[in-house]
Amino acid sequence: MTTLTKTEGTEVPSGSDPFLSVRDLHVRFSTEDGIVKAVDGLSFDLERGETLGIVGESGSGKSVTNLAILGLHNPKATEIGGEIVLDGDELTGAREKSLEKLRGNKMAMIFQDALTALSPYYTVGRQIAEPFMKHTGASKREGRQRAIEMLTKVGIPQPSLRVDDYPHQFSGGMRQRAMIAMALVCNPQLLIADEPTTALDVTVQAQILDLLKDLQQEFGSAIILITHDLGVVANTADKLLVMYAGRAVERGSVKEILTQPRHPYTWGLLSSMPRLSSDVSEALHPIPGTPPSLLNPPSGCAFHPRCGFTDEVGGARCTDERPLLEAGRAAACHLSAEQKQTIFTEQIKPRLG
Ligand code: SF4
Repeated sequence: MTTLTKTEGTEVPSGSDPFLSVRDLHVRFSTEDGIVKAVDGLSFDLERGETLGIVGESGSGKSVTNLAILGLHNPKATEIGGEIVLDGDELTGAREKSLEKLRGNKMAMIFQDALTALSPYYTVGRQIAEPFMKHTGASKREGRQRAIEMLTKVGIPQPSLRVDDYPHQFSGGMRQRAMIAMALVCNPQLLIADEPTTALDVTVQAQILDLLKDLQQEFGSAIILITHDLGVVANTADKLLVMYAGRAVERGSVKEILTQPRHPYTWGLLSSMPRLSSDVSEALHPIPGTPPSLLNPPSGCAFHPRCGFTDEVGGARCTDERPLLEAGRAAACHLSAEQKQTIFTEQIKPRLG
């Protein structure tokens, strides 16, 4: 893994010695076509017991960030720069052995698709028990007991029977629960959930999100919830980071961002969400254009080719000058605070109902 020198810091969050601190993170991949800047100067903090939602379209850098925290990138094809400190342990540049010890034990991940994350060849119980036995030295019998206990916690009926089932014998929702059980079996203090409910129907989605909240209260873990869907974070996360083209563009509490969003990209995400209260004939407002190529990201504000407010900023500022994300509640945009407030109140809010 190559360590980059620190470049322009784009954000300066407040607070000291947080449980998880990410500072000026850069993740770059070498491809045949050139260097992909998947994450470009990202900083954020997370405390124990807190849930941070990371929201953005595909290719915004959210999943890449979390794979960097877990140390799961291929070191031969990836350059990682900046600092990731988890409870005093520096993770960037850490040896694979130390990361392996932390994975599953201190930090764990819930993937989007339980069917591919669980092996079809082993029973659900064995897959839950394995990390527990590996990290605690427990016997097979104790591992099985722990698997039954975890299946009970995540609400699988008849856990002492189902522990011997194979993944294909579980429904989609049950497999997702089993994966949560597997992730939590060693009481990790950091849980990263990457689109944990995307493959599930709405009712099961709500059950899984409630389960995550309940388990967080029981285990006191910090959670990073990655999603493209602001609806998912609305009731689950405490604070939000909106990412675009590998950078954070808005940061705040969930309430602040959902009720008073300040960045044109966040306005676009909110305006493109279908609402229960809206008239069926009412048009959605999708964000025009597509996310940019990270091989050659746009100059200045990376959102400028899709933004409808560059004229309000005036001149060539949006295309020439990269807006910074200040500390605390902030949006990386050249519009003045007054302009953001006026545009939101007069143009965006009426669309959101
Ligand atoms: Fe739009 Fe300019 Fe703000 Fe970027 S800086 S979001 S292009 S107004």
